[in-house]
Amino acid sequence: MMLGTILLPFAGVIAAIVLTWQYGWMGWPFLAMLVVGWLFTAMGITVGYHRLLTHNSFSTFRIVRLFWMAMGSLAVQGSPLVWCAVHRRHHEKSDHDGDPHSPVLHGYGWWASLKGLIHAHMGWLFTRYWSPSILQRYVPDLLCDKLMVAVDRTYVLWVAASLAIPSAIGGLVTMSWQGALLGLIWGGLVRIFIAHHITWSINSICHVFGKRHFHTSDNSRNNVVCGVLALGEGWHNNHHAFPTSARHGLFWWQFDFSWIVIRLMEKAGLAWDVVLPSERMLERRRLH
Ligand SMILES: [Zn+2]
Ligand SMILES: [Zn+2]
Repeated sequence: MMLGTILLPFAGVIAAIVLTWQYGWMGWPFLAMLVVGWLFTAMGITVGYHRLLTHNSFSTFRIVRLFWMAMGSLAVQGSPLVWCAVHRRHHEKSDHDGDPHSPVLHGYGWWASLKGLIHAHMGWLFTRYWSPSILQRYVPDLLCDKLMVAVDRTYVLWVAASLAIPSAIGGLVTMSWQGALLGLIWGGLVRIFIAHHITWSINSICHVFGKRHFHTSDNSRNNVVCGVLALGEGWHNNHHAFPTSARHGLFWWQFDFSWIVIRLMEKAGLAWDVVLPSERMLERRRLH
């Protein structure tokens, strides 16, 4: 199951490359599906799963909560409850024994570092840490939320929809089976592949490469490339210093797309109780 979740999108990327090589440019509808699909499902992870569900960094209406949970589920990165439980555990043990995906616990030397990076990127998905057995301990609050449990229980249907929707759109736009196949490949598999590896890079790259601006008890880093590509999540040292902050890009030059979205939601009355660190909190942890 886990192997399929990793290998199928990869196979989709290979198919996409081969098809482009043979038949040329995929066409605008498929590029649009890839970009828009990626943006919304990636925000489902960053705004929804991460900042809203895991860290309660803002409050919103139940319908909006459901929307972000649905988007997150369509990203095929695990059901919301398990994702949140694993991530809360990561914050609790960060870069110490019991961290589900630390890259720095594998010894010294370049070989150990490489093994650590691979483990943090995707190797950890095959360990005991990726299992629903820890739900009671890490997400008791979310287990009380009926809406959350309902989305969690029906997770396989969301995965199926994540592939079926782009296939259907591709088929209808071109009125052909080839269109459905291209929709499946570009709007489904390639999109999932890109979002997977961007999210996993936060766990691997952002605990190894980048700058530290704030004191934390782990090796978390602010990485510019991940910061931009992961819609703000790559300002990961900031995030470990202030986990409940709705804003991860704490300096003006740290582009944080997810924060812009949360701010727009707040302005539109769709988000409130938005958590931000005070000037004093920032000053206390700042590394000089
Ligand atoms: Zn981390
Ligand atoms: Zn977090």
